[in-house]
Amino acid sequence: MLYVVATPIGNRGDLSPRALEVLRGVDLIAAEDTRHSGPLLRDLGVRTPLRSMHEHNERQLLEGLLQRLEQGQDLALISDAGTPLISDPGFPLVRECHRRGLRVAPVPGPSAAICALSAAGLPSDRFLFQGFPPRGSSARRELFGRLQGETATLIFYESSHRIESSLADMVHGFGGQRPAVLARELTKRHETIRLATLERLLQLVRADADQRRGEFVVLVAGAPAAAAGEVSPEAERILEILLQELPVKQAAALTARITGEKKNPLYQRALRKGGDE
Ligand code: SAM
Repeated sequence: MLYVVATPIGNRGDLSPRALEVLRGVDLIAAEDTRHSGPLLRDLGVRTPLRSMHEHNERQLLEGLLQRLEQGQDLALISDAGTPLISDPGFPLVRECHRRGLRVAPVPGPSAAICALSAAGLPSDRFLFQGFPPRGSSARRELFGRLQGETATLIFYESSHRIESSLADMVHGFGGQRPAVLARELTKRHETIRLATLERLLQLVRADADQRRGEFVVLVAGAPAAAAGEVSPEAERILEILLQELPVKQAAALTARITGEKKNPLYQRALRKGGDE
């Protein structure tokens, strides 16, 4: 069996008791970087043999790991921090296990994206995880431009080297007034979570070198539904109920008053739903 085990993104206390039990009990741990995971596992009293599996040797190592699994051994896959496969190696191994009918079991725990979303104060009902934006500014601007009308909360990972230039490109792509959150050094000593406009966050990062240090998750509020020419799921639900009792115009007007969304997209949506004018 292959266990996909989440490890802490900072605070070691976040390693679950089940993760510890699995790491102690398996025959081998495939880690992203043994220099990183070795000391952590030693401190935790885990003496299981370790193999390094970084991006460059992932495919070579794959066959050896699959053979062990086919012989009935139990393996654990970990990354340097957080959940494997989430902007981290492991996907080819997990996919190949499924292809060969080998069992894969998740041992859940921290992931910086979900950790940030849970404390960000931005809508969390719909979100789009984008991982790391491209390194180059023009590719980044193109991506942010494409995502400009997306109504779900957007989640990005970013490094200290690019946090300032990436935020500047977000201001360009989403507009300076778009609410966003800079979640830095989560679960660590210097954790900061700032909810402000993108313009304000950029100023903050430019003015204070400490705010450019460490690891970052940037969350950007989705475009307002009406601005995107769309109707939110909640407005859609209310509209549907009101249309059972009221003519289109009245149902759209009331839904707009209840939700604060623009009347016209609601009216158009109501017409498409085939309400009586
Ligand atoms: N697999 C990991 C996960 O589940 O979160 C992510 C690995 S990715 C290579 C590393 C990136 O995750 C960092 O550059 C940063 O953007 C984000 N990250 C990891 N730990 C973090 C933390 N403690 N605070 C903020 N962001 C973090």
